[in-house]
Amino acid sequence: MYDIEDNIRRVRERIAEAADNCGRKPSEITLIAVTKTHPAEIIASAIEAGITDIGENRIQEAETKFSQLGLEEPSLKVKRHLAGHLQRNKVKKALQLFDIIHSVDSLRLAEAVSQSAAEYPEPVEILIEVNTSREESKFGLIPEETIETIEQISQLLNIKILGLMTVAGFSDDMKIVRPQFVELRKLSEKIDKMRFPNVEMRHLSMGMTNDFETAIEEGATMVRIGTAIFGERVTV
Ligand SMILES: *Cc1c(COP(=O)(O)O)cnc(C)c1O
Repeated sequence: MYDIEDNIRRVRERIAEAADNCGRKPSEITLIAVTKTHPAEIIASAIEAGITDIGENRIQEAETKFSQLGLEEPSLKVKRHLAGHLQRNKVKKALQLFDIIHSVDSLRLAEAVSQSAAEYPEPVEILIEVNTSREESKFGLIPEETIETIEQISQLLNIKILGLMTVAGFSDDMKIVRPQFVELRKLSEKIDKMRFPNVEMRHLSMGMTNDFETAIEEGATMVRIGTAIFGERVTV
């Protein structure tokens, strides 16, 4: 059923091709294998096949699987990304389980992260999620409020904002999706110029199975890919 190694090879080829097509280096783009709903054995085989970055959406699910995989502590081998929505009451646990949080989407959540992050020797790495599709069902700051909120978050202690993240609208039509990636990139360029403290616009986390090539053309430095590697999810 699963041919993880082959799928990963194919995704890497597509990343390289998309990068080449727009004059970027494939090495600028980190492939995050989004492992939500897939069991620990499958994740282990992806790591075996060279995956160095994994993404999960839910704290509880990640906790169970990470302990099966021996990834409940930070490791040099695998970077653990939280891609899904985070509730404030789960922040403490999230910081134990993840090396970077892609989904900070409010000042209040950032305050909770800042508070829990005080326990750690290094600032916690976060990205700010922006709702570029403006779909009501999606999380993220609306683009118009993003700069002001980042300015406020930049005042908090113990955290480091390393970029922006978005989940584009679900569509196969790149004429619809591309402008959303463009908006995220432009926002990031604007924020970069403002030189807020603790803010470094190093990453654009955008692009999933349906749209990652377009995201790469528009500047993605992290693509989050589940289905193209692991096949369809049984549950969401
Ligand atoms: C599930 C998920 C992905 C991966 O989606 P695919 O379409 O399976 O590649 C990426 N990012 C987030 C935030 C997700 O929830």
